[in-house]
Amino acid sequence: MLTADRLSAPTATIPVAVAHGDGIGPEIMGAVLRILEAAGARIDPRPIEIGERVYRSGISSGIDDEALATLAATRVLLKAPITTPQGGGFKSLNVTIRKMFGLYANVRPSRALAPFVPTLHPAMDLVIVRENEEDVYGGIEHQQTADVTQCLKLITRSGTERIVRYAFEYARANGRKRVTCFSKDNIMKITDGLFHRVFEEISAEYPEIAHEHMIVDIGAAKLAVNPERFDVIVLPNLYGDILSDIAAELCGSVGMAGSANVGDDIAMFEAIHGSAPDIAGLGIANPSGLLNAAVMMLAHIGQSEIAQRVQNAWLRTVEEGLHTRDIYGAQSVRCLSTAEFADAVIARLGTSPQRLTPPALGKAVLTTAAKNQSQTPAPRKEHVGVDVFLDWTPGRANDLAAKLIAASAQSKLALTMITNRGTQVWPRASEMTRCVDHWRCRFMGEGPIDGLLIAALLESIARAGFDTIKTEGLYTFDGKPGYSLGQGQ
Ligand code: NAD
Repeated sequence: MLTADRLSAPTATIPVAVAHGDGIGPEIMGAVLRILEAAGARIDPRPIEIGERVYRSGISSGIDDEALATLAATRVLLKAPITTPQGGGFKSLNVTIRKMFGLYANVRPSRALAPFVPTLHPAMDLVIVRENEEDVYGGIEHQQTADVTQCLKLITRSGTERIVRYAFEYARANGRKRVTCFSKDNIMKITDGLFHRVFEEISAEYPEIAHEHMIVDIGAAKLAVNPERFDVIVLPNLYGDILSDIAAELCGSVGMAGSANVGDDIAMFEAIHGSAPDIAGLGIANPSGLLNAAVMMLAHIGQSEIAQRVQNAWLRTVEEGLHTRDIYGAQSVRCLSTAEFADAVIARLGTSPQRLTPPALGKAVLTTAAKNQSQTPAPRKEHVGVDVFLDWTPGRANDLAAKLIAASAQSKLALTMITNRGTQVWPRASEMTRCVDHWRCRFMGEGPIDGLLIAALLESIARAGFDTIKTEGLYTFDGKPGYSLGQGQ
């Protein structure tokens, strides 16, 4: 575990992997490391090379074995943003690191610094806990027909339990009062439905913390106009990615927010923003997001007093109106470069803010969260049918049904439904439904079925000249269907 052994000695120097990144990365990392050194942080930075240069050298993941080994040894990474090259073949390094090291929780605090940083929401103080490994970020995508592409959205019970429990443990450890869950389970009843259901189950273990659920569209709207009403928000990966940028921007600038990516064994700390190629090399980037991430890192490695020192000096600098260009405005006194901003923070080490209240240092890495995984008994699973997806040039669904019924005459599986882009077109149909070349044809058995029946069915469909682009097994779990029904059923 991260917090045990080597992190517990109060005066130990902790090796930390440091990635300088791309674009503005080296500028803001340089500024942050100078501040940490001046503040007396007991860290031993071990530089690793990741990002654009590594991609260009032919490593499609953007990280080489040496960097991975350093990371595995230090178990702490302070990371500047990197550029993911456009075009095919390059994997997102961030996604790779998160998944490779099991960094399942992405913790993104957003707190207003009014009146020193202009915001419409001076009382805003929320934390987004974003699930970090699942959802559409598996990168499992296919083009299936001339017309149709798909992306697989994976939501697991175990992953959801981890992130939801993490959110409640985070709330408990950090004196937060309410956890809100966003999902879109009115549409994605199985995937987002699971996320919501697990949220309700786990919330019962934390009776002292209020909980609520919102459909993500109205939740996002409320977040945009009234972020003050939120405390901790837990949500699946994609919604969390989008909404945490919005939350940071509502506070004044996306350049101010830091984040912790937390796993059982490794934690990665980074700004939430990207490599900002539009301002790279100009020396004007705001290093605050990465600095706030570094403050979270110091708290994590047991150097809370240094973290507090850095945070106080940073708040004092912001309070005195010494601002980088992204937050420079009528309330500012001077517009500073990245390096000048770092100098200003260093000059204020040992001072405290006069008007802003320093927030309690957040505890982002929680060893309690992952331990308490509930032991839900495995449900009884029965195979009851198969959805066969066909690439078939648009024609009439009735014709397709007739051909499939003829092709499967010897099968013990019967055609029960055809949908096109999820809308039922056989046996019932609307004349107005626009059909594409992608047909889901549902075959059901009279009782439990097996793979041999499906293999025989697929053979007869292939012999009839159809192009099967994929199949999905249809299962019941404890007697309940584990598959969506066609709209119109
Ligand atoms: P971005 O966050 O880099 O920039 C968005 C806007 O915010 C730009 O106008 C930029 O100038 C401004 N900005 C961002 N950080 C700032 C700072 N510290 N100070 C002042 N202004 C700042 O987003 P983008 O332009 O969409 O992405 C650029 C690259 O970054 C892409 O290659 C993307 O893949 C990558 N990216 C990396 C990470 C990461 O490494 N964690 C995260 C997001 C995007």
